[in-house]
Amino acid sequence: MTARVLVVDDVPPNVKLLEAKLTSEYFDVLTAFSGPEALDVISREHPDIILLDVMMPGMDGFEVCRRIKGDPATAHIPVVMVTALDQPSDRVAGLEAGADDFLTKPVQDLALFARVRSLVRLKVMMDELRNREATGANLGWENEEEAIIEIDVPVDGSILVVDEQERVMERIAKALDDVGDLTFIAGGDDAAERAREKNFDLIIVSLTMRNTDGLRVCSKLRSFEETRHVPILVMVDDGNTKLLVRALEMGVNDYVVRPVDRLEFLARVKTQLKRKRYADKLWENFHLSMQLATTDAVTGLYNRHYLTSHMETRLQIAHSSGKPLSVLMMDIDHFKAVNDTYGHAVGDIVLKEFANRMGKNIRGVDLAARYGGEEFVVMMPETPTDWAYMIGDRLRQEVCENKFEVGLKSGPIEISVSIGVATSEPGQSPSQLLEEADKALYAAKAGGRNKVVIAGSAMN
Ligand code: GH3
Ligand code: MG
Ligand code: MG
Repeated sequence: MTARVLVVDDVPPNVKLLEAKLTSEYFDVLTAFSGPEALDVISREHPDIILLDVMMPGMDGFEVCRRIKGDPATAHIPVVMVTALDQPSDRVAGLEAGADDFLTKPVQDLALFARVRSLVRLKVMMDELRNREATGANLGWENEEEAIIEIDVPVDGSILVVDEQERVMERIAKALDDVGDLTFIAGGDDAAERAREKNFDLIIVSLTMRNTDGLRVCSKLRSFEETRHVPILVMVDDGNTKLLVRALEMGVNDYVVRPVDRLEFLARVKTQLKRKRYADKLWENFHLSMQLATTDAVTGLYNRHYLTSHMETRLQIAHSSGKPLSVLMMDIDHFKAVNDTYGHAVGDIVLKEFANRMGKNIRGVDLAARYGGEEFVVMMPETPTDWAYMIGDRLRQEVCENKFEVGLKSGPIEISVSIGVATSEPGQSPSQLLEEADKALYAAKAGGRNKVVIAGSAMN
């Protein structure tokens, strides 16, 4: 995963050291040697993450952080405070200034890479949401004022704690008393399964339970649909780096090391809850606006106009990141015959059911749209042709192997779909890419229908 990291420190050798470490892991590194210079670089370059020294003459790190987090244009960029001493009071002040994480000098490689990666992963998600909002604003149906996200929301939330030790749980209950609703699970192999039952805003998991594999609980939480996006905070013993790194690689969002400083713990929980709020709010805004202006009434999918606007943004990202974007163009086979035989209402049910199945076969970052009458498009960022083909073919099979229940006495009916796949090339516009996919779709139809054809391969 490459990302642009800004390193800010008033001591040049410190900057050089972090720059060398990060460059060796293929991060792009920007540098600044004072608070004002950092703010300047941030407004010009929009880095993906900022490593910020606390102690600097003039404007200190806390002030820089407050300004970053106070500006809606930069508030979403993760800030990692780099503290000289392992001072809990510094950390708390940093969290209050809005910092997302901490590193202590001298910075350990594992902690550095693990934390930078985990925050970059979060930012990728945030950026996608912001892009979609921007698309909405371009379409003219987004209320600008509402789109500005209130970061400093009062925090409360529903928190699940998984730990076998009752004494620890009691202490957590005390520390988090007025932060939110707490639910405790005293370990057990079904801990992750039980987490699916309620909409938690944060899950805290001990990695040092005697009878329960905490790491396994985390990996399950990351794989279940209901808990995939819920932040996870783990508790580890000091020095257990190996366990911690594995947890972070798994997508755990943050960690605290035992013995846990109460204030630091509280502040981190609040940060995670805030972040969750932020993401939820973006989704909410997004869905609401979608319903108003961009969805198709029959299927509830995005419409063609929204698709092409958003594709423009996504294509630019694809071209600058070098990661291909693929599209599937789909058309239901002999759909006119369905209408003619069973009536228009049955045709509508088929369209709805098709949209449903499509939704189940794609990922959260993919975007599904109704492109025309019985034509649909799925846009898949960061997806090479062979994956796109696989996803398309899985959907094709799903459609033709399971008949559609449309409420007819005579029983469910057989439906099939033809699909064209195309992958972006540098400089392509949405209409050019869609045209490629359309040609492939045409070849799939000509080749007998119920087929997936890749653009380019269709011609020979
Ligand atoms: P092919 O396999 O070549 O795609 O054949 P087809 O019959 O699916 O294609 P054609 O383009 O000839 O017909 C599409 C039909 O879809 C015609 C149109 O009346 C119908 N249609 C378009 N929009 C809707 C809709 O919203 N509801 C219903 N029920 N039918 C629709
Ligand atoms: Mg058709
Ligand atoms: Mg058609």
